Amino acid sequence: MAVSNNHKEKLEFIEETTKNTDQVQAKVLSEILSRNAETEYLKRYNMEGATDRETFKARIPIVAYEDLKPDIQRIAEGDKSPILAADPISEFLTSSGTSAGERKLMPTIEAELDRRQLLYSLLMPVMNLYVPDLDKGKGLYFYFIKSETKTPGGLVARPVLTSYYKSNHFKHRPFDPYNVITSPTAAILCTDSFQSMYVQMLCGLIYRAEVLRIGAVFASGLLRAIRFLQLHWRDLARDIETGTLNKEITDASVRESVKDVLIPNPDLAKFISDECSVENWAGIITRIWPHTKYLDVIVTGAMAQYIPTLEYYSGGLPMTCTMYASSECYFGLNLKPMCKPEEVTYTIMPNMCYCEFIPIEESYGKVTGSLVDLADVEVGKEYELVITTYSGLCRYRVGDVLLVTSFHNAAPQFRFIRRKNCLLSIDSDKTDESELQKGVERAAELIKSYGAGIVEYTSRTDTTTIPGHYVIYWELLVKEGGRWPEKEVFDKCCLEMEEELNSVYRQGRASDIIGPLEIRVLRSGAFEELMDYAISRGASINQYKAPRCVSFPPIIELLDSRVVSTHFSQGKPQWSPRRKDMK
Ligand code: AMP
Repeated sequence: MAVSNNHKEKLEFIEETTKNTDQVQAKVLSEILSRNAETEYLKRYNMEGATDRETFKARIPIVAYEDLKPDIQRIAEGDKSPILAADPISEFLTSSGTSAGERKLMPTIEAELDRRQLLYSLLMPVMNLYVPDLDKGKGLYFYFIKSETKTPGGLVARPVLTSYYKSNHFKHRPFDPYNVITSPTAAILCTDSFQSMYVQMLCGLIYRAEVLRIGAVFASGLLRAIRFLQLHWRDLARDIETGTLNKEITDASVRESVKDVLIPNPDLAKFISDECSVENWAGIITRIWPHTKYLDVIVTGAMAQYIPTLEYYSGGLPMTCTMYASSECYFGLNLKPMCKPEEVTYTIMPNMCYCEFIPIEESYGKVTGSLVDLADVEVGKEYELVITTYSGLCRYRVGDVLLVTSFHNAAPQFRFIRRKNCLLSIDSDKTDESELQKGVERAAELIKSYGAGIVEYTSRTDTTTIPGHYVIYWELLVKEGGRWPEKEVFDKCCLEMEEELNSVYRQGRASDIIGPLEIRVLRSGAFEELMDYAISRGASINQYKAPRCVSFPPIIELLDSRVVSTHFSQGKPQWSPRRKDMK
């Protein structure tokens, strides 16, 4: 009864808030501006305590991370004066978007945890409208924390989900029958990703009959879990058969967390061995967890590349994308979570932050026109999202491009189109064109002494491997008197490129979230053939430029059929939690 009342209240909250989108937005802005009236930032732009939209829009500039970097640097160095927010900065959230190769640092305040928790609390009431009886079983979720660092001023810097899993909101959450998960908190909080995954999978297998939904944050994470099962099912089955935990699990609290659940179960062990030892893993998810109603993973944006593989392993289970969020702020949720991946739209909740929108055609040059408010965006148009948050970001460009598809009450619903300047992404990594270019230039140094150079290149992600990896296509020119580099040189070029990519990429490689980078060397003339192909499809000869990233299957086929040699990175690029931009 109490649970259903709670769900009712949450659904009413969604209705109320979205019906009054514009009023709620005005209130959010006025609250942010009045709370932060005495901050250096708002004073710098002569807000003089004003809390209305007109003054705000007239005086506060639209900014990107680079504009705020000097202020953020001061906070990181320990300046506790109210620079961006009146509330003390409680920690930095490290975004997967980078600046000068390092994760962006997003200052946040304690109260934001409550706002994020509020958005989480809306998800199950909505899901419950579409999928009944989720309170009658458990969710198998693969959640992980990442390493954290301290800034010179002593503030913790870590990803937003690490902050959330370590918070009391998560660790000491009250019992909710709709949110029972199989993973012990100790396993989620274990920094050793092998031990963490092992025990989360073990518990998922032990509770297999009770599992109703399976998820991870991103689709790539769930596929990593399947791959883990492929590699370790024998050990897992042995543990279940004997009721003793693998000695490789050394973390005392993780061992303690399975003490009572790991009891000898030879029947289950035999079942797992029988299912996992067959060649064909199609539908493995539903074979092992037969009551799974859906996969809870984000498959929008860059993650769409994983849909076919997830369909294969799950035998076509529905995939639900429940929310749209970032380190800067959590934005909104999908009010029709059981829709098809290509139909997913997110309703930005008007209470989370103040949102403005740059019409996409204006977002490439200097933004001069006036920005559109949340309630005023138009269906069918694409916009770049600009936010003003309680943590002190003012008119900040998130870098996401969204398409308005419809309205729920007065709140627009958005399809995530893409992130600006993101060329390649496997997991949370985002590599842009200039980073790729620098990587290619650095690797090209290794073939220079052979009289060889790269005449043209392009790239793509290959997600047929788990984990997925970057593929870079090179066409070479060897000058007269020069010679073709040996295989080992190209192998080295792969690692050399990786060394140049940003820290999120290198961290992904360090923890095997991203596979070794591959260079495919093409035969001479391949890019000319690519140009001919593009022109045959209507590209202009004068303006033709080789694309820096390809995804269209016929183009990939064309390139792959011209490959003369393939090379993989033989090592791992350097990565340490220490940031290059912090002393
Ligand atoms: P981060 O700040 O590292 O957490 O990354 C946030 C970014 O991830 C957002 O700005 C989006 O580009 C992307 N993102 C978050 N949620 C979704 C989603 N549901 N679908 C597609 N992309 C998303």
